[in-house]
Formats: sequence, structure tokens, C-alpha cells
Amino acid sequence: MKIGFIGLGNMGGPMAANLVTAGHDVIGFDIHAAAPDGVKMAAHATDAVTGADCVITMLPNGAILRSVAAEILPAMAAGCLFIDCSTVDVISARDVAADANAADIVAVDAPVSGGTTGAAAGTLTFMAGGSDDGFARAAPLFDIMGSKTVHCGDAGAGQAAKICNNMILGVTMIVTCESIALADKLGLDRQKLFDVVSTSSGYSWTMNAYCPAPGIGPTSPADNDYKPGFAAEMMVKDLGLSQQAAEAVNAETPLGAAALAEYIQFVEEEDGRGRDFSAMLPRFETKPRT
Ligand code: NAD
Repeated sequence: MKIGFIGLGNMGGPMAANLVTAGHDVIGFDIHAAAPDGVKMAAHATDAVTGADCVITMLPNGAILRSVAAEILPAMAAGCLFIDCSTVDVISARDVAADANAADIVAVDAPVSGGTTGAAAGTLTFMAGGSDDGFARAAPLFDIMGSKTVHCGDAGAGQAAKICNNMILGVTMIVTCESIALADKLGLDRQKLFDVVSTSSGYSWTMNAYCPAPGIGPTSPADNDYKPGFAAEMMVKDLGLSQQAAEAVNAETPLGAAALAEYIQFVEEEDGRGRDFSAMLPRFETKPRT
């Protein structure tokens, strides 16, 4: 396939390179990033999408997606497949899909989890929203860039799944860190806490697979001085998107709101920026009760 790929940053770069390795002809465009291995770069976004069978975007946010989509949709051929893999707000995803459909372009929103290591290894999880036809056409590409794909529903459903998942992740990480810091202060050995929780009703992905305590459980960013991984500011973005969505549909999400406030404070007023989101643990270790 001839694929136009726009947004070749930390995630998009290795995803595009994996498509090249699988034999696709990838023409990229980015306002800053260098060409990933094997990707030919276009001078303009419109050049990257002209004549493409499929266009993939991997951009920072919904506003940028909207502006890129407004530029490229008129240059894309009718029948072209448009897959947006960025994490954006549900409304932007639905609006861009509607604009694409109006131009006879098949749109799929397909945000990912798995981070930069998953992008490089081709083991991302894709959460897709769009028509059955769009999903069927996109699935072989998801199989190259990832190892698991769920068709979540119509346009925007992929983004909805992503922000709901990450709201659970953000809240769970905070309470996992709170629990370990509380256990410390109660004189309970961290390894013993892990041994109990990881096999009891308090188990979670954040404790079992991504333990925020160094030296406990499988290797995680905590074992690498909390270098991300998944940066705390990315968690601020995703928790912000879930609050934006909750406001739009009048959903009560008190713990999601509280988690957002904690991560904003951590990133903007403390030392969280540039650290993994699990660095909440050293924060709670030193924090007195307010
Ligand atoms: P990034 O900042 O490294 O990459 C984004 C790229 O988009 C940059 O290279 C930037 O130059 C480019 N860009 C910005 N505006 C552009 C424009 N108008 N035209 C062309 N290119 C433009 O970010 P990333 O880490 O690759 O994340 C991309 C998306 O993936 C985000 O929506 C993020 O939330 C999501 N995501 C990231 C991770 C992660 O671990 N990094 C995990 C899951 C999802």
C-alpha cells in the first residue's frame, strides 16, 4: 500500500518504520521530526497524502488533528482510508470522521496503548472506532504496528475506550502509591505488601505489572530512576480528556477529577514533569498528611 504518515514523533516514527519493514511504501510529513528508517519525506502534508491508499496521523492533540485534517482531506482521493492514532478528545475524533465521510473518505479513530517501547516493537494495542468496512481495511495495518486490536464501535469509540482506560490507570496508580507509602509508615515491608496485594483482591496492573516501588515486581520505570515510560504530563493530558468528556455527557467522575488535580499539582508545582507517572510514590513517601 502507499501510505501517507503525518506526525513522526516518538510514537509515529517507529510505527511508520514498522510499516516500511512490512513492505509498504510510506511517505511521511512532520513539522520537526527527522525521517524514520525507510520513510520518504514530503515537503508538505498534502504531498504526503496525494495518491495514498491510506493516511495515518499520530499528532499531539485534537486541535492539531483538526487543522491537519482540514488541510489534507481535500487532497486525499475518494475511497482513501484515514486512520488517526493520536489520543484526542472524542468530539474532535467524531467531527474529523464526519468531515472525512462527507469527502467519501473512510475514517477510523485508533488510539493506542503500549508506549514508545510498544511502538518500536510493533506490539501496540489499538482501540478502534469506525465502520465495519473501515475497521476491516485498517486491521492488517494494526497487525503490523501492534499485537492486539479491539473494534470498540462507531466513530469516537476508540478514543472513548482510551480515556476510560487511562482514567482507571491514573486513579489506580495514585492509590497504589498511597498504599505503599502508608505501608512504609506502618512498618510493613514493601515486598511483603507486594506478595499479598499482587495475589489478593487489591491486585491491579499498576501493582502487579508496573510496580511503582524500585526492586519490587517486574522491571518498571521505578527501577530506572522513574524515567518514562509514560510521563506524568501525558497522564495529565489523558485525565484532562476524560474530564472534558465527562463534562460533555454529564457523567459524575469524582476520582477521575481528583486524580487529575493530583497529577496537575505533581507536574506543575512539584518535580513531576519529565518523570514517569509512577514517580507519585517518592512524592507520597515524603508528603505529610494534610
Ligand atoms: P511527539 O510529540 O513525540 O510526536 C508528535 C509529532 O507530531 C511531533 O514530531 C511533531 O513535530 C508533529 N507535529 C505536530 N504538529 C504537526 C503538524 N501540524 N503537522 C505535522 N506534524 C506535526 O508525541 P508522541 O509521544 O509521538 O505522541 C503522539 C500521540 O500519541 C499523542 O496524541 C499521544 O497522546 C499519543 N500517545 C503517546 C504515547 C507515548 O508513550 N508517547 C502512548 C500512547 C499514546
